[in-house]
Amino acid sequence: MAEPLFRRLALLGVGLIGSSVARIARQRGDLAAEIVVNARTQKTLDRVLELGIADRVEIDPAKTVEGADCVMLCAPVGAFADLAARIAPHLMPGAILTDVGSTKQSVIRDVGPLVPEAVHFVPAHPIAGTEHSGPDAGFTELFQGRWALVTPPPGTDEAAVAKIEELWRRCGSMVERMEPNHHDRVLAIVSHLPHLIAFTICGTADDLADESRQEVVNFAASGFRDFTRIAASDPVMWRDIFLNNREALLEMLQRFMEDAQAMARAVRWGDANYIEDKVERGRRIRRSLIERKQA
Ligand code: NAP
Repeated sequence: MAEPLFRRLALLGVGLIGSSVARIARQRGDLAAEIVVNARTQKTLDRVLELGIADRVEIDPAKTVEGADCVMLCAPVGAFADLAARIAPHLMPGAILTDVGSTKQSVIRDVGPLVPEAVHFVPAHPIAGTEHSGPDAGFTELFQGRWALVTPPPGTDEAAVAKIEELWRRCGSMVERMEPNHHDRVLAIVSHLPHLIAFTICGTADDLADESRQEVVNFAASGFRDFTRIAASDPVMWRDIFLNNREALLEMLQRFMEDAQAMARAVRWGDANYIEDKVERGRRIRRSLIERKQA
């Protein structure tokens, strides 16, 4: 077994993502010699102890990070500013502070200014997830064959960035570096807009008159069913993502609405070629995902 990358890994937040990292660290043994975990509630920490996925749990974020050479923020992005303020004075000189947040410019904006001079700040985002949350939702294969995007601000210590990249490789991810604003635009179209559409379509169906609503449930075809799976995601996490990737999300939504209008026009005027062309394009995108094993 390779040497552990870190002596002590502190996870702040232990839901789907944090608990998956903890499980992998436990199973492999070469991510960190010791795992310390923090959550907002004692209930979650008790569950972590029952699951046996941490060496130690701490309800106080400041205590969690003491002596840790890697600190990973795994809470919803809206909680990062407060968490960072609470842990900043307790971070060990030379430690790496990283995160798994789904938005990157907001994390750099909220956390960056609070990071002490002697601490390396390496924001990252594993592009892997399910609609489930909490410490029971995690599993060791979550990041297998998925991308992890690393978005270090200019001037970040290269050795610190390399260690976070290696951490994600050991979690099974393929790693790529990206500019934070490019990250936010890409994620707006591949993840944030699809979630917005899923939440909206479920709301639209739910607003229908009572008897139609019952039929929606009874006869849900696969199209609607797939939307409900996405819409089952955690409300706090998604509230925070929408509010923290506002500009890119609104831009992609605007483009989408224009394209949806064009489709509506084609339907109204019986433009069969337009409709067929759009469906064919969708099929091509699906085929290329399958070929790249990202489906
Ligand atoms: P989750 O399952 O809902 O878990 C959230 C964890 O953060 C819990 O342990 C919670 O503690 C803790 N927490 C601390 N402060 C909190 C606060 N103020 N509000 C709510 N929870 C707080 O979340 P997750 O799905 O692992 O997501 C964690 C992070 O990963 C988010 O930043 C998200 O954007 C990012 N991410 C998510 C996915 C995905 O698909 N889920 C994918 C990639 C990245 P308690 O249990 O005690 O409340």
